[in-house]
Amino acid sequence: MFLTISTTGDKTNPATDMGFLLHKHPDSPFSAPLSYGTAHVLYPEADAERCTAALLLEVDAVALVRRGKGKGRGGAPDTALAQYVNDRPYAASSLLAVALSRVFSSAMRGVCKARPELPGQPLPLRVEVPALPARGGPALVGRLFEPLGWTVTADPVALDTEFPDWGDSRYVRLVLESDTLTLAQALRHLYVLLPVLDDAKHYWVSSDEVDKLLRAGEGWLPGHPEQQLITSRYLARRWSLTRQALERLELVRLAETDDSDVEEMDNAVAADTGDEEKPTPLAVRRREAIVAALAASGATRVLDLGCGQGQLVQELLRHPAYSEIVGVDVSMRALTIASRRLGLDRMGERQASRVKLLQGSLSYTDKRLKGYDAAVLSEVIEHLDLPRLPALEYAVFGAARPRTVVVTTPNVEYNVRWESLPAGHARHGDHRFEWTREEFRAWAAKVAERHGYDVGFVPVGPDDPEVGPPTQMAVFVTGETKDRKEAKAA
Ligand code: SAH
Repeated sequence: MFLTISTTGDKTNPATDMGFLLHKHPDSPFSAPLSYGTAHVLYPEADAERCTAALLLEVDAVALVRRGKGKGRGGAPDTALAQYVNDRPYAASSLLAVALSRVFSSAMRGVCKARPELPGQPLPLRVEVPALPARGGPALVGRLFEPLGWTVTADPVALDTEFPDWGDSRYVRLVLESDTLTLAQALRHLYVLLPVLDDAKHYWVSSDEVDKLLRAGEGWLPGHPEQQLITSRYLARRWSLTRQALERLELVRLAETDDSDVEEMDNAVAADTGDEEKPTPLAVRRREAIVAALAASGATRVLDLGCGQGQLVQELLRHPAYSEIVGVDVSMRALTIASRRLGLDRMGERQASRVKLLQGSLSYTDKRLKGYDAAVLSEVIEHLDLPRLPALEYAVFGAARPRTVVVTTPNVEYNVRWESLPAGHARHGDHRFEWTREEFRAWAAKVAERHGYDVGFVPVGPDDPEVGPPTQMAVFVTGETKDRKEAKAA
């Protein structure tokens, strides 16, 4: 099993400086025993112009079997021979990734005491892995490495060059090139993505694998377009761990997105209302509409799901009708601001007993959210990737199941009326989609049907004759709620 890392340089920045970064001297070969074999580091070439470090991993197939780790590798699992005779000594896999992290641990962390200025500098890099099992084929290899700044060559390896008719094997020869990455970044990409491509973890996946993944993924995994596939495969498709990791990645991503322009657009005047007076900001109108819908529902215990910085929670607290108001958000930063806005730490006991802020992700069912009268999703659904929306739908309408659900979202048709919004742009950088009235109605009707709710629609903001209102609102009520109301009225 083999991997090379090469760089180029000149007299002032010799390529051999890579030796400092790797903590391995180009003139002296290095070997380290591992539980399943031996790792060697050697330099096939090392001068000022070019320097190549090779990691050679000798896998001891017998030791692997003895340690009970030889199973689960392709083929018939219970054939005794397959445990010994397989691709493991040759194909780059999680074993190679583990070896990388052992022999280059300081380099991976970007630590270099001898030359502290080196780790932060991008290098011209070329990585070659002659035999990489690539489940998902060359196309997936590209989707994994290209977003990280690599130029990728993934040539399929023929099953047998003597018999071209047999076609390609499932291995590729991988070459990665970049001059924008540091060596530490490159090593972390390999450490995570080699086992992802192999897609067969050979060792027990314990919960500290989540920490390892997030540490190695720092700075590139949150927001990677294949984040979900990477996470799930890295964690050997163990769903509970994958879920943990995805939740933590979501927190990182949200902590990094700046919500300031949400407020800006919201506070913008909903285009020409024809009013002489100073028009009301859209965010205020939206809260008024939500408060009215909640009042009509008769709810006293309400959830504000995706409460953000707590403006609606604050508004609801002013109405004594609400005995319990719970704000939920995935972003710790938003909750901290909300808590400050509400003055939670200065609040009297009675007032404090009415309000709670919880951190949680709405794309997972959550027992804490069961049994409430009403839930609000104000400008939240558009922050989820469309494929995650059914998960939120189930968590809210299927599992938490409040009697009333109020959902608001931008009406994309209205965007042409925002003067400051360039054509074709969403209102906020973090909006994953914005819907027309028809799209929203179609979604809401399906949700209502699937979960036994009735749904009605309310425009929020000036209802433009052509493009409709800036915000669209749906109010869902369960059949039971309606019956009860009718009974009351009768
Ligand atoms: N409801 C507020 C905030 C809307 S901004 C308002 O109307 O002003 C969207 C909010 O949804 C953000 O605070 C974001 O952190 C939160 N959010 C996005 N995805 C989420 C998820 N999966 N689970 C919980 N909250 C989420």
